Amino acid sequence: MRYLFLLLLLGFADCTNAQNMLQQLFNSHDTFKEKALTERRFTHKDLIPLLKAAKTGFEVTQVGTSTEGRSLNLVKIGTGPTKVLLWSQMHGDEATATMAIFDLFRFFSASDDAFDGLRKEILSKTTLYFVPMLNPDGAEAWTRRTALGIDMNRDALRLQTPEGRLLKSLQQSIQPQFAFNLHDQDPRYSAGKTKNLATISFLATAYNEAREINEVRKRSMQLIVSLNRNLQQFIPNQVGRFSDEFEPRAFGDNIQKWGSSLILIESGGYANDPEKQNIRRLNYVALLSGLQSIASEAYTQEPIDEYETIPENGRSLFDLIIRNVTVLKNNTPVLMDIAINRRELAVFKRPEKWYVRGTVEELGDCSVFFGTQEIDATGLRLETDVKMGSKADFVLKSEKGIVTHTIENGWLK
Ligand SMILES: [Zn+2]
Repeated sequence: MRYLFLLLLLGFADCTNAQNMLQQLFNSHDTFKEKALTERRFTHKDLIPLLKAAKTGFEVTQVGTSTEGRSLNLVKIGTGPTKVLLWSQMHGDEATATMAIFDLFRFFSASDDAFDGLRKEILSKTTLYFVPMLNPDGAEAWTRRTALGIDMNRDALRLQTPEGRLLKSLQQSIQPQFAFNLHDQDPRYSAGKTKNLATISFLATAYNEAREINEVRKRSMQLIVSLNRNLQQFIPNQVGRFSDEFEPRAFGDNIQKWGSSLILIESGGYANDPEKQNIRRLNYVALLSGLQSIASEAYTQEPIDEYETIPENGRSLFDLIIRNVTVLKNNTPVLMDIAINRRELAVFKRPEKWYVRGTVEELGDCSVFFGTQEIDATGLRLETDVKMGSKADFVLKSEKGIVTHTIENGWLK
């Protein structure tokens, strides 16, 4: 009995320590943040000086060349037996995790602080192989696809892209036990059918149509269970799970099949974080906690049935919903909800420049959807016409004709 009490106490202390460590990593992120990267739309030329400045202990090797001639670089750190391969931005316009990877480089370059033990544990138990920005041509044009116009994540079988061929050859030659496939997802995905944004979503990809669970996929699920629990501390109810439908052409699914436990991490949306700097910090904490769990093998204790309890990504969210407004259509009043999204659009031929356009994307009964922001327009009127695809410039008036709300380009003024 006394032993049991002691074990419980130790268990509690362990758990608290782990939470403290995560909190410390979260709080100190600014110290390790790569200050050269402050917004998402950086390009390959911004990364090269950072790679050239790599410190002792970092092996940086050019391992390939993109279609347009940009270098593809592998960064290796650590000396441990468990190999982990991590790559980001195989889709050119998904840059959040690339920023987090450069924060990790700064974290592992530092010493003489409260994290020395953590660094030593990770770097002595694992060898980490990073490919930051696997699709630099896509990043240059701020587009998903490679310069060949191919979605690299549908090229795992045909291997027509040099970047995709490199990824496969790295997986085959390194044969990592774990692989992290780092992406950005639609920032309007919800965690389940709720109003909560899926700020981070995970997937332990399937390796066959039947979505079976073998030892390789089980490890992915176990690691995701621990990552989910760790992130709940910072973003409660804002973690989602991507659909595990088998995609035979995707790298995630094939790498799981080729024997590396694959963890897909998708950065989604977070309120008032258009440059995804807070999500970058969550990536940083998640990746460090995941690497720690791999190094200590703590993930092996995680129950895989908890994986299924993470809510699936839902499509329930719009940026703004105006509810129950009366719209005059041919002089007849019609009750409507108006759902609006504010989307980023690139300036023609200048991908580094962008603007936002607020557009009506759903009209009518929107009671099954949520708005990140909502206006209850019961008893209010819209005197101008509204259609699907309209620009979201609206003035709402009371029955007496007094202006109550002005919406410009999807923003409530
Ligand atoms: Zn992606």
